[in-house]
Amino acid sequence: MNLRFLALDKLLEHSHDLDDYDFSSPKPSEIFGINVFDLKKMKKYVSKSAYEQLLNSIETGKKIDRQVADQIAAGMKTWALERGATHYTHWFQPLTGSTAEKHDSFLDFDKNKQPFENFDGKELVQQEPDASSFPSGGIRNTFEARGYTAWDASSPAFIIHDTLCIPTIFVSYTGEALDYKTPLLKALQALSNAATAVVNYFDKNVKRVFATLGWEQEFFLIDEALYNARPDLVLTGRTLMGHSAARDQQLNDHYFGAIPERVKRFLHDLALEAYKLGIPLKTRHNEVAPGQFEVAPVFEEVNLAVDHNQLLMAIMPDIAKRHRFRVLLHEKPFKGINGSGKHNNWSLMTDTGINLLKPSKEHNLLFLTFLINVIKTVYDNQDLLRASILTPENSHRLGAHEAPPAIISVFVGKYLTQILDKLEQNTPADNDTEYQRSLKIDIGKIPEILLDNTDRNRTSPFAFTGNRFEFRAVGSSTNCASPMIALNTALAAQLMDFKKDVDNLINSGKDKESAIIETLRKYIKHAKPILFEGNNYSQQWVEEAKRRGLTNITQVPQALQAYLYEKTIQLFEKTGVLTKRELIARYNILIENYILKTQIESRVLGDLAINHIIPIAVKYQNLLLDNLLKMKQLFPEQYQQLTGNRIEIIKEISERINQIKALVNQMNEQRQKANQIDDLTQKAFTYAQDIAPFLDKIRHHIDKLELIVDNSMWTLPKYREMLFLR
Ligand code: ADP
Ligand code: MG
Repeated sequence: MNLRFLALDKLLEHSHDLDDYDFSSPKPSEIFGINVFDLKKMKKYVSKSAYEQLLNSIETGKKIDRQVADQIAAGMKTWALERGATHYTHWFQPLTGSTAEKHDSFLDFDKNKQPFENFDGKELVQQEPDASSFPSGGIRNTFEARGYTAWDASSPAFIIHDTLCIPTIFVSYTGEALDYKTPLLKALQALSNAATAVVNYFDKNVKRVFATLGWEQEFFLIDEALYNARPDLVLTGRTLMGHSAARDQQLNDHYFGAIPERVKRFLHDLALEAYKLGIPLKTRHNEVAPGQFEVAPVFEEVNLAVDHNQLLMAIMPDIAKRHRFRVLLHEKPFKGINGSGKHNNWSLMTDTGINLLKPSKEHNLLFLTFLINVIKTVYDNQDLLRASILTPENSHRLGAHEAPPAIISVFVGKYLTQILDKLEQNTPADNDTEYQRSLKIDIGKIPEILLDNTDRNRTSPFAFTGNRFEFRAVGSSTNCASPMIALNTALAAQLMDFKKDVDNLINSGKDKESAIIETLRKYIKHAKPILFEGNNYSQQWVEEAKRRGLTNITQVPQALQAYLYEKTIQLFEKTGVLTKRELIARYNILIENYILKTQIESRVLGDLAINHIIPIAVKYQNLLLDNLLKMKQLFPEQYQQLTGNRIEIIKEISERINQIKALVNQMNEQRQKANQIDDLTQKAFTYAQDIAPFLDKIRHHIDKLELIVDNSMWTLPKYREMLFLR
């Protein structure tokens, strides 16, 4: 029996062997955060003064002194040992995209060789893991293999299984960021400073501004046995071949449909584990494609939300295995149906509790100030924002089925569009009080009108949704830190400029409100081309965007160039988030990642085409040939008439086999050529132009063969099986 049928057999077992699953569980509120050393536990386990010093340092970013760190470490240790932990680790987010940990045991020995549990401030605050196996983009010299991890006190430690995990940043021996968290924390700090200065025009009580993030995590689930029978899924995370099922999402019957029980068991376990880790999961539902699902939490401060998303992605595969599922976090595991995204709902909140992107009677000019500065930020940095989300995986999704296109635009809704139009009209003289008054009345009406404004555009890559923006172009497997670094840094720089522009006008004699309105008017005029309210999936938009001068870049290496723009370097240096050297290093890592991923896909497809597909096709063809020979012997007279269409099939198989073989040869030659290129950028462009296109061309013939060849001979699980059976 071939592997596919073994897998289908196994699948039947899988859907039964958990039949006695027990859904009962403690109340969510009772288990929420039990594995987290949060402030409540901190208060219980460390002295009042240490606790207060820590709070202060979280708020002000001041360094924690060694004695306080010792006290906190002692409390953390006591708590962790009570919870049964035996090990601890610094938990960080290297540029591989996943999370990293190296465990140390609490076990140590005293002078008299007596065992005891050891963990003090030194271990808590800093470690020196060997950094040589993590990507550094050329920053690290081989003789400086060491890197530092340093405690991020603003994200609480947590326990997974037997290990206390301490969120940390990860930097090179010479201090450059080798991770996502370091620049994220700097970006959030820069944003807080710049935004607070602007908010202070309106409200002097505000001392800090937090960015908030609520991510919506989409993913596919497929049966473990079917997954294991698909080498392309195992090795690349997506199917490199497979004809679409006759029925997939066209009936729209999966979205929000009843969740299949086996999936519910998985989601139930996932929610329980998430609650224990303090991840505030709130919603879950079926997504549009068969086999696709989504979970989303209540939003949190960005740094914490990013950690929670990384943590969730890290625990999902293990929990899925308990249910004999595999989680596919890849952005486009199946061709022809929806891919998976991770909408980043994002807003700004003052320490006094004002949501700066929420219109309200009292704060409307403040709201418009932030709204327009965000719009201008997106317009001026469309290429950077795209670069922050256009991974090799996500490039298959953007612009394809039901995913926002690679053109970045902003949706604000009908009513806000009217307000912005009005603001833009440059008719009034400075003392035109009639105009000012009517503008104020209009601005004053925003909240009521927005409340019942239901025209939510689902196709926009960056949409205003009433009290936040939703960056929808982000891919499902992406570390949210990447877009959050780009967006918050760019907005920080924009707000710094805004402050300067307004101050200049004030210094030249304008009153504050007029100075703000005049500056906003200038911005909205400038940034208007980025606003689009129509259907982003249409061809008209592609043409219209071109006329407007918006960029539309679908190729990864080309998109990544945005990290090297002079403008980008200035932006990151001005805000202190990344140096030029760090940016170049990041670019190198991303561009190399593109080369490696494309190289792997090309190898996997080439191999499978030659040693899976062609042999099966030949075998089936032989069967037909055999049949023809026998037909000829038995019915020499009517032979032609009886077998005409079988000959057609035989010919088609031959042609497709020839094509596949020729294309694989050409692809391999191109790859060998490309691999000779030393310059990373040039190599990546060559991979994109000369190698990647073969993937689709080869697949086309394989998918056609799948339709012809005897179903019982086909060895790879088919789309209909992977998508519908569970
Ligand atoms: P929808 O599918 O309609 O977009 P969901 O409920 O799936 O809505 O997701 C909305 C997400 O937006 C949630 O994670 C929610 O917490 C988040 N959100 C709501 N308000 C804010 C805010 N002010 N800042 C950031 N995220 C927010
Ligand atoms: Mg959403």
